[in-house]
Amino acid sequence: MEEREDSRSLKHACVPSAGLTTSLFLRMRLPMVSTASFRGLVEFNPSFAPRRLIGHVLFDFDGTLSLIRQGWPDVMLPMFVDMLPKKNGEAEDEVRQMLFDDIMRLNGKQTIYQMIQFSERVKERGGEARDPLWYKKEYLRRLDERILHRIEGIAKGSLERDDFLVFGARALLDKLANRGLKLYLASGTDEPFVKKEAELLDLSRYFNEHIYGAKDDYKTFSKKMVIDRILRENRIEGAELLAFGDGYVEIENTKEVGGLAVAVASDEAHNGSGRMDEWKRRRLMGVGADICIPDYRDCEPLLQVLFP
Ligand SMILES: [Mg+2]
Repeated sequence: MEEREDSRSLKHACVPSAGLTTSLFLRMRLPMVSTASFRGLVEFNPSFAPRRLIGHVLFDFDGTLSLIRQGWPDVMLPMFVDMLPKKNGEAEDEVRQMLFDDIMRLNGKQTIYQMIQFSERVKERGGEARDPLWYKKEYLRRLDERILHRIEGIAKGSLERDDFLVFGARALLDKLANRGLKLYLASGTDEPFVKKEAELLDLSRYFNEHIYGAKDDYKTFSKKMVIDRILRENRIEGAELLAFGDGYVEIENTKEVGGLAVAVASDEAHNGSGRMDEWKRRRLMGVGADICIPDYRDCEPLLQVLFP
C-alpha cells in the first residue's frame, strides 16, 4: 500500500465551510484486485469481492450524479448558525462544527431530517423551535436563489449540461445501460425536483420510471424502502444490488441487505479535481463502503473490477 497525505488539505478537512474538499491519496493493492489500470484515486475495503450476480444498480442523485445543488451546505449551515440561540462564551467555530457535523451526518436522508435535528438543537438551548417544515421551506427558498441561474442556464443552453454531472458520470451510465443493467435513482431531495433536474440533465432516460425522491409525508419514502421494493419486485437477493452514493444512507442501506456499495467522495466544489472529499470518504468507508472513488474518471477499470 502506498499512501500520501496532503497536510494542507487535511487541515482543510476540519474547516466546515472551506468547500469541503481535501485530498488523500490512498491506493490499496489487494491480492484479488488489480488497480493498475486506475489513473486516479481508489480505495478498497479489504472485504471487497467482485459480484458476477449484479443486475440492478441504485444511484443517489445530488453529489453522486448531479451538481445542480452543489454548495447546498453553504446555504444550510449559515442559516442554522444564524437561527440557533447562542450560549454565553461559546466559540462560533465550535457551533459551526457541531451544526456541520449534524448536517453531514444526515446527508443522504430526506432534507426534513436535517431540519428535525436542527429543531432539537434549538430546543436543547431553551429556544422556541419552529416546525421543521418551516425550516425546510426557508432553506429551499434560499437554495433556490443560489441554483436558479444554473437551472435556467442549462435549460436555455447557455450553461453546459454535462458540467453539472459528477465528472465521468454519463460515460458510466452509458456503460451500465449497455450491459443491460437495470438502473434506479433514489434521492432525499423532493421527488418533483429530482425528476425535473434529472430531465434537465438528460438523465431520465437511463432510469425511466425508476426515479424516486422525498414525499411531503416524509415517512412514506426512504432509500431503504426503495431498496426493499427493488428486491421484492424483481425477486432478487441483496447480493444482486450495486449502489453508488455520496451519503451514508444509501451506502449503509445497501450493505444491510448484502449489496455492493461504491462510495463517491465527490469534490463537488471542484468537479474533476480527482480529489476525494475527506469528510465523505471517512464517513462512507466507516459505514462499510466496499470501494471509494472521487468521481467516475476510471469507470472502465472500475467496471472490470466489479464485473471481472
Ligand atoms: Mg447525495
